[in-house]
Amino acid sequence: MPNHDDQAAVARKVLQWYKKQALVDFARRLALFSTKLGVAMPTLILSSARTRWGSCNSRKEVRLNWRLLQAPPHLINYVICHELAHLKQMNHSAKFWAEVASIYPDYKAAEKELKAWSPKLHVM
Ligand SMILES: [Zn+2]
Repeated sequence: MPNHDDQAAVARKVLQWYKKQALVDFARRLALFSTKLGVAMPTLILSSARTRWGSCNSRKEVRLNWRLLQAPPHLINYVICHELAHLKQMNHSAKFWAEVASIYPDYKAAEKELKAWSPKLHVM
């Protein structure tokens, strides 16, 4: 960057970098786990939601928060597996959790860990 003293410009660049990396990283994980689960690769959309890490809809779009890129890799995997399982079960029923467990067995620990990480990940 030409001017490192321009804090707003640096912040914009960092944000851009995170979003670009997040798209590449999340797409790779989505491809891997959608194959494992036996669902078609969904459309990936980045979100900046303040309250959630991921969501999905019946149009087969998965939204993932770019801030998640700062989390440990296994937690990124967990959120991705959770959203992919929703493509099969649009609810949080026992059937849904069975789908999650089929590709991410230790999901209960991950869910807890993600809650603990959340405040740190939302700083930026
Ligand atoms: Zn859910």
